[in-house]
Amino acid sequence: MLIDIGANLSSQRFDGDIAEVLQHAKNANLEKIVITGTSIAESQAAIDLCTTHTADFPDMLYATAGIHPHSADQFDPQSTSISLRRLAAHPSVVAIGETGLDFFRNLAAPDIQQRSFEAHLELAIDLVMPLFLHERNAATRQLEILKAHRDQFHSAVIHCFTSDRKTLYKYLDLDLHIGITGWVCDERRGLDLQKIIADIPLNRLMVETDSPYLLPRNMAFSPKNNRNEPAFLPWVVAGIAAHRAESEAQIIAQTGATARQFFRI
Ligand SMILES: [Zn+2]
Repeated sequence: MLIDIGANLSSQRFDGDIAEVLQHAKNANLEKIVITGTSIAESQAAIDLCTTHTADFPDMLYATAGIHPHSADQFDPQSTSISLRRLAAHPSVVAIGETGLDFFRNLAAPDIQQRSFEAHLELAIDLVMPLFLHERNAATRQLEILKAHRDQFHSAVIHCFTSDRKTLYKYLDLDLHIGITGWVCDERRGLDLQKIIADIPLNRLMVETDSPYLLPRNMAFSPKNNRNEPAFLPWVVAGIAAHRAESEAQIIAQTGATARQFFRI
C-alpha cells in the first residue's frame, strides 16, 4: 500500500489544482497521504484540505499539527499548546509535528526551537500520539531531548532523513522510524544516503514525497513547473529499491503497513 507520510499540500503551489493533484495521486495507486502541518495556520489549512476533499477522496487524507522549527518564533508558551491541542483534537489529525530542531539555517533562534520542540513532545505524550520530526544539523541536541523523554512518548518518525550512518543508528537505537524522500534519488547530494539506505530495517522505514519540494531526480520525465506531488511517490520507492535487497512491491507493502500502524490510519 502506497502511503505518502509527508506532503505539504497546503503550499500555495497547489492552490489552483489541488483536486487534480489528488486525482493524480489516486491514479498512481496512492492509498493515503498525510499532509504536513508546519505552523498553526498551515496545520489548520491541512485539516481544511482533509475536510474539503473527504467526499471525493474518502479515507485518503490526514494531517499533522505542529510548528516547523523554521517557524518556531511563533511559539508562545501561553497560547501555542492550547492551539495545538485544539488542532490535534480534529479526527483528521494523526500526529504531532512537524517539530524538531534545525540548526542549519537557524531561521528561528535555537532556544525557542527547543522550547517549541519540548512543548510538542509534552503534547504528544499527553495525547499518546505519534511525533512527526524534522532535524537538520542538530542531531546531538535532538537526540538528547528525545532520549530524555523516550520512555514517555509512544512513537516518532524522523522525516526526510538525510544524515549519516552514525546518526541513523542512534535514532534506530531509540526505536524511532525513518522517513525517506526523493533525496535518495539525487545522483549528486543523495550519494551518502544511498550507501546507508539498506541499513534501515524494513519495518522502520516509511516513504514520503515532501511535495512540492524534492522532486525525485530519477523520474523518466520532469514536470514543467518542477513541482513534486504525491503521485511521484513511486519514484522514491524506486530510488530506495535500487539500493536495497527487496523489490519495489515488497517495499510498498511493508512501508504501507508500517504507516497504517504508526499513524493508526
Ligand atoms: Zn522537514
